[in-house]
Amino acid sequence: MKAQRVLVAGGAGYIGSHAAKALHREGREPIVFDNLSTGHADSVKWGPLVEGDIRDAEAVRAAIREYKPDAVMHFAAKIEVGESEAKPLMYYDNNVAGVLNLVRVMMEEGVDKFVFSSTCAIYGDPEKLPLTEDQPKRPVSVYGRSKLMAEQILESVSKANGLKFTALRYFNAAGADLDAETGERHDPETHLIPNAIGAAIGRGGPMKFFGDDYPTRDGSCERDYIHVSDLADAHILAADKLMQGEQKLQLNLGTGQGRTVLEVLKAVETATGRKVPYEIAPRRAGDAIALYADTTLSREKLGWTPKVSDIDTIVSSAWAFHRKTWGVE
Ligand code: UDP
Repeated sequence: MKAQRVLVAGGAGYIGSHAAKALHREGREPIVFDNLSTGHADSVKWGPLVEGDIRDAEAVRAAIREYKPDAVMHFAAKIEVGESEAKPLMYYDNNVAGVLNLVRVMMEEGVDKFVFSSTCAIYGDPEKLPLTEDQPKRPVSVYGRSKLMAEQILESVSKANGLKFTALRYFNAAGADLDAETGERHDPETHLIPNAIGAAIGRGGPMKFFGDDYPTRDGSCERDYIHVSDLADAHILAADKLMQGEQKLQLNLGTGQGRTVLEVLKAVETATGRKVPYEIAPRRAGDAIALYADTTLSREKLGWTPKVSDIDTIVSSAWAFHRKTWGVE
């Protein structure tokens, strides 16, 4: 059995819009539910848009009654670590109370399958690398804590009330749809690849390079960049697993390979054919030295392998998208 009709909460955003496209490609029906606070109406191209907030029970209920989805995918989250420290109430309200509300209404309406966007930020500073799912969860930011709390709520509801859920713990979501039909459009943008591309084309001056004195192979932080379209595919596999009776899966999604900031900048220079001007800045608060996933469990449980997550494909897809949206020659 497959998840045929899926309510995609946050489907107008970066990862959610790629999930909507992947669902449509697979012959499923994505119904986007989004409050358009950070998402874009023109990223909703593969199914209807219901404008609403996950914290609004009646809006969620109306959407579920109208469309009767088999499953809900959840992407409607606040995601900026720095902002989460300054605005904890906003983060707990959206990322914790919002999930609570969404799941409560789902259960009341008889929808019991939920694919949740989680994050490697729930682990905090890793004890050992690569990170396995059973490592201690000690988030160091409000953002990470909000996602961990939401996972804990899902665990409780699963145990007590039979919710079937998958928590997909992304490492660094990156890249854009290979047809450049959707991509990353955050404002303000804080992520490395779009910032490096922006700097390469002279948008907003040199990039700030946060710390070149880390104990890594070249002094810069190491991350596990995973293509957003590979993430989207994993969501569909996860939803189908729930349809087949899986009760609970908590999985890392990454490639298993770390890339340093300098390696990413090199890939941006190759893709764009331009230099990335940057200035060395102090270390950014909250940045771990190195993070990369042990992907054994997600490969085994979902039968999932990243297909387009080599760093050059990630960067060239992002470049093609930004080139189109920013109108670069
Ligand atoms: N980074 C940087 N300059 C930027 C944005 C990011 O040097 O303008 C670095 C950041 O310090 C981290 C890595 O790039 O080591 C990835 O950061 P990003 O914000 O993309 O993702 P995060 O790992 O924080 O989720």
